Amino acid sequence: MAALQQRLFGTNGVRFVPGVSHDLDFVIGLGEAIGTYFGSGEVLVGRDGRLSGPAVSNAVGSGLLSAGRDVAEGGVVPTPALQYAVKVLGYRGGVMVTASHNPAKYNGIKVSGSDGVEVPRLDEQRIEKIYFDGSQTKADWKTIGVARQDASVVRTYQKGVLSRVGAKAVAERKFTMVMDLGNGAQSVAAPYIAESLGCKLITLNSVVDGGFPGRGPEPTPDTLKDLSSAVRSVGADLGVAYDGDGDRSIFCDETGRVLWGDQSGCLVADYVLDRHPGGTVVTSVASGQAIDAVAKKRGGKVLRTKVGAVEISRTIIERNAVFGFEENGGCIYQPHIPVRDGAMTTALMLECLASRGMSFSKALAFVVPRYFQSKTKIEVNPKKVEAAMRSVEKQAKGTVEKVDGVKVWAGAHSWVLVRPSGTEPIVRIFSEAETQDAADQLVRKFAKTVRAASA
Ligand code: MG
Repeated sequence: MAALQQRLFGTNGVRFVPGVSHDLDFVIGLGEAIGTYFGSGEVLVGRDGRLSGPAVSNAVGSGLLSAGRDVAEGGVVPTPALQYAVKVLGYRGGVMVTASHNPAKYNGIKVSGSDGVEVPRLDEQRIEKIYFDGSQTKADWKTIGVARQDASVVRTYQKGVLSRVGAKAVAERKFTMVMDLGNGAQSVAAPYIAESLGCKLITLNSVVDGGFPGRGPEPTPDTLKDLSSAVRSVGADLGVAYDGDGDRSIFCDETGRVLWGDQSGCLVADYVLDRHPGGTVVTSVASGQAIDAVAKKRGGKVLRTKVGAVEISRTIIERNAVFGFEENGGCIYQPHIPVRDGAMTTALMLECLASRGMSFSKALAFVVPRYFQSKTKIEVNPKKVEAAMRSVEKQAKGTVEKVDGVKVWAGAHSWVLVRPSGTEPIVRIFSEAETQDAADQLVRKFAKTVRAASA
């Protein structure tokens, strides 16, 4: 066996298919390892609405108890609600049972520290080491943990989000909003927040259902056609949709156009920088360049990290940044809590539109410069990934950045990013340019390079 440590955590927690890739014994063992890592105190456990959620959260809770930790069961809650409750209710840490936007058969485990933020990569490795070494603490009958329910998680979260926005100014605008909850966990929290902000609310797929019968757990322009047509048919001011665990939000403007998270993230970032002059915004190397222009205008700074919400959260904390976003719709507002939060982002977007006093599409055109993007993914033999990346570098003419994968600047406003996936045997290629043709061409050119080097 190679000396490489075996991994359980991917880009965003541990993911598995209960009863197929991993059984519940695995989950109990992992719960024991997490409990051993925490060392003391009470841990809050929550879950999204997946069918395997009750079994997996009971198993991880059993593991925590077995390692001597006390456990509070929060039930079905959005991921950001669990994280916020961990922070403000004083828990030692949190465990969220969720597979986010993955299809219904998946589940997963995400671990947060006492600040509510996902634990750093090095601590994920500590948990893995405890698991693979079999060095979990095993409590005896006296030291074993005790369990209780905590029914205050959602209420605590709703109050926290509402305390961060000027509810009166938003309510005066009397927004009509269509909210597509995708049968996910925000169903239990976000509608109340929107109504408290005076919105006339129309909901779609608002019953929590782990089979995700509505439009599936991943919000993308392709899966949000119902949202788009509902916004147009009722004449709403905006639409919003969440992923399965409610940490990401994708918006659609009053014309029904569904926006990538880059664009909505830039609009909110502009508003946040107006409120926090000179602030710093964090995003990944995969996000578009519009944010650079937006921040420059406001006298703010932009920092770029590797792809992944954990990297963005941790950089926000280290560099005391005020806001962060990802192109998949994950936005982070540091004054609330430095994790992605779908309902907090919605509240900020409403406040932003209320302060602008113009339609969503006009605000967007006014604030966010328009670039064109293109993307593809290529299956690559894992043994040939390195060779493929070397050949991409060789092919590069222009400035090369290597924060995550290889990003090549082909011109002042055009770039391509070639990046091996952290979880699957694929290489992802993203590009951005001033025309759609130029963006497509860049992707085609580098796709050819990757295919040739990995054939
Ligand atoms: Mg998610």
